[in-house]
Amino acid sequence: MNGASSSSASPQHGLTDRLTRWARSLSGKPDEGEDEAESIHPRAGGATGREITRRRQLYEEIGDFLFAHDLDLNPLNFGVALDYLTGANIGVEKAVRAVLMERGKITNGWVESVAAEQRADEVTPEALASMLDKVEENLAQFTGLVHESRSSAKDYGAALQEQARSLTENADAEPILSRLVGLTRSMVEKTRQVENQMRENQKQTIALKSSLESARRAAEHDHLTGLPNRRAFETVLRAEVALAQADHEQLSVAFCDIDHFKHINDTHGHDTGDRVLKFIASLLTKISGDKCHVARHGGEEFVLLFRGKTAAQTCEAVDGVREDLATRSLVNRTNGERMERVSFSAGVANVLAYEDPRAALKAADRALYLAKEHGRNRVYLAAETD
Ligand code: GH3
Ligand code: MG
Ligand code: MG
Repeated sequence: MNGASSSSASPQHGLTDRLTRWARSLSGKPDEGEDEAESIHPRAGGATGREITRRRQLYEEIGDFLFAHDLDLNPLNFGVALDYLTGANIGVEKAVRAVLMERGKITNGWVESVAAEQRADEVTPEALASMLDKVEENLAQFTGLVHESRSSAKDYGAALQEQARSLTENADAEPILSRLVGLTRSMVEKTRQVENQMRENQKQTIALKSSLESARRAAEHDHLTGLPNRRAFETVLRAEVALAQADHEQLSVAFCDIDHFKHINDTHGHDTGDRVLKFIASLLTKISGDKCHVARHGGEEFVLLFRGKTAAQTCEAVDGVREDLATRSLVNRTNGERMERVSFSAGVANVLAYEDPRAALKAADRALYLAKEHGRNRVYLAAETD
């Protein structure tokens, strides 16, 4: 979850980092190096009393969890307990939930194996992307070679046929020449075979290239909602910043976070929670287009990027979706029961008003935090002095 630094370091490094940040957040000290995904809760000015109580409660819940399962007090177990209890890592959360349903208990060994799996998952998109680049580059070279070899094989074939023709015209040397002609013809045939083989290879190369392209698309999309994931969003953000600057256009970002989603999961089950996520993704997708990109930023959080809209216009657009959702009465498909109202809160910031896009994302995140603090189901605009 933490980008390059945790995936390239020693196995426990990522968890240790997370725990350090978490310990800092318990003491109310913001961590300058943290990324946006983990900066939702801490904010300028230190923690409020309510926030400290919430953290203390989380700290106690982690302790209870570790003792209930007789787990060693090590960073790995702390990290898994933290991920499970906060839902910060949905993969870990799902794995813990499944093993608890099945066996009712987790062990040190199991934590080690699930953490290893998660680490493998964390590395995959980045590693996959660089691998794809490499393979594509190799394939491009290979395709070039095949082309070259095919044309020289063709020339060779043509030259042999030419010689064969002139040899058959010479009557005196007929017996030898006819053998030569036979030999030449078989060489031509061989060349033709090689040529066919190369053509076949080239076909396979093209097919492989297209499967690699599909793999790349899969690595950049969230499989549940089908939306681009955070990684893809970061690429889009860089491109859109460049376009907006070049064309002197507005660029705004919005973070949307589903309200009390944990409660929705707890009340209606994870599958219904998944369907709610898909439904909200579909509502957000309706407003997306050439100049509006929607992505799943993680968990129950979506991010939107609008080019050509001021932050105030972006607030209006997002608020339209918020209102649409909040006035709907959703039905839990599992049991046909009507669900309580589902809503989201959002924070919006003007990207180009900040020194870099990361600062703008943080400002939108802070605005989202305030929208939550002030009652949820609302969209807040970040103050540009943030
Ligand atoms: P708030 O209004 O403050 O945002 O409260 P919340 O409950 O939405 O926030 P919290 O961060 O406490 O919980 C987020 C939950 O989202 C926890 C996690 O289980 C759930 N979640 C994250 N990803 C998924 C997913 O893919 N499917 C489902 N069903 N739940 C998910
Ligand atoms: Mg959230
Ligand atoms: Mg939420």
